[in-house]
Amino acid sequence: MRKSLISYQSGATSPTIFSGEFADDVEWCEGNWPELEFRSPEDEAWYAVEVSDICDALMISFNGFSYEHDEFYPADDFKNSDEIQEFEERFRACSEQMQDVECPKVHEGTKVCATCPSVTGEVKFYDAIVVTVESMKHERDEEGNEVCGCDFKLFWKQGPWANQVTTAKVGEICLRVEDNRMNPKVVSFLKEARRKLHGNQGEETEWQKILEKVNSAIRNNLSVDG
Ligand SMILES: [Zn+2]
Repeated sequence: MRKSLISYQSGATSPTIFSGEFADDVEWCEGNWPELEFRSPEDEAWYAVEVSDICDALMISFNGFSYEHDEFYPADDFKNSDEIQEFEERFRACSEQMQDVECPKVHEGTKVCATCPSVTGEVKFYDAIVVTVESMKHERDEEGNEVCGCDFKLFWKQGPWANQVTTAKVGEICLRVEDNRMNPKVVSFLKEARRKLHGNQGEETEWQKILEKVNSAIRNNLSVDG
């Protein structure tokens, strides 16, 4: 059983966007890249993860879980480029726990990643969209911190409540982080996977496809002429 992807990461990172193709060439250190979340194929829920590359494979470790939960993806395990694309889309910058004072930022249409009501008591995160906010007056706790008691109606895009609306509180909501930079370890893994799939010309497949068409057009013309 896995739990939250809640990350208390703070402070905005540089808004510079690197395209995946160039990420290999960029000098980088761990702290400069957004923390990752990964949508596990096992339950399609989002988890905060660490990635490491081991012998042409990508190992995914789930934050807060023991190594038995690690998932291991060999680069030569993809059957086609759609599968690689689908795998790539399982990664994004880690969502962050919504803070009580962030309540005014959340409104109709805000995309969130939240825990959904569960009969088994498991805490899993899925994507949802805020439909309405039923505002309540914010109170203060003993330490003087603002406490949000508002009800957030969420329309679920994924998970067991997909296409349904439920009510959530601030503590159940993580805010999406808009940072499109992809972790270089993931980028080089995907590159390797594509190389294995297409041979060393992996990045020229579009051109190869055109060449194939050209060649077959030439062959057809020859046969018509001949
Ligand atoms: Zn509130």
